[in-house]
Amino acid sequence: MPAKNASVLGFSQGVGWDELVGYVTQTTRKNVRIQAIGDAHWRNATAALSRFPDQDLILIRYTDSPLYRTHSILHEFGHLLLGHDGCTQSKDTVRDDAHEQAAELLAYQLAQRLYRPGDYEDLRVLG
Ligand SMILES: [Zn+2]
Repeated sequence: MPAKNASVLGFSQGVGWDELVGYVTQTTRKNVRIQAIGDAHWRNATAALSRFPDQDLILIRYTDSPLYRTHSILHEFGHLLLGHDGCTQSKDTVRDDAHEQAAELLAYQLAQRLYRPGDYEDLRVLG
């Protein structure tokens, strides 16, 4: 069943990548494959999502920074968790598409849970 937003996921701060991917594949009931492809000449999109009967395929641009690639993956996870058929985002697409906005919002919410430390003792180590 597609999730409505990250608040229903129940992830605590500091969720691990494997747990997040597991949640996505459990929700979609399909494996997800992530493949870095393309280059700086791949200009019309920085990521793509193709849904097949046996798996979901996320393509990301390997020339992007690791942080941006992660965000692109989280955006596509957003589409998967929201039950969308795919991603229509491209440089030529108007960004006010409701599905794109919802996936982008969920990507930011997932990122907050992924990047924050799970234990505030971790913060004390950093001062
Ligand atoms: Zn999208």
